[in-house]
Amino acid sequence: MPECTRMSITPVQEEKLKIAVENTCELCHDYHPAVFLEIHSISRHPTKEMKRDPSTRILVVCQICHAHIHQLPVSIGKQRALVKHRSFYIRRDIRRILPGSK
Ligand SMILES: [Zn+2]
Ligand SMILES: [Zn+2]
Repeated sequence: MPECTRMSITPVQEEKLKIAVENTCELCHDYHPAVFLEIHSISRHPTKEMKRDPSTRILVVCQICHAHIHQLPVSIGKQRALVKHRSFYIRRDIRRILPGSK
């Protein structure tokens, strides 16, 4: 698994996140079995927005895309753009799974 500065996500939350995106990698948009999906934390240095709304800090990606992200052909700007373009329902579900600090 690529080195990823993980936020504290429980195995239960991880399972729910995979269901929220319907087992679809948020980078390549292909369907993968859950064991093939991983949670990527976008930045080592979370912004205020990411702390308030942790859903903006993670991407659910397949192992191949995850390795790709860490070899950095995928800039943080691009990763954040992917988060921004999530569908309403996926964003809502992920926020429910990862409630932010109030
Ligand atoms: Zn992928
Ligand atoms: Zn990662």
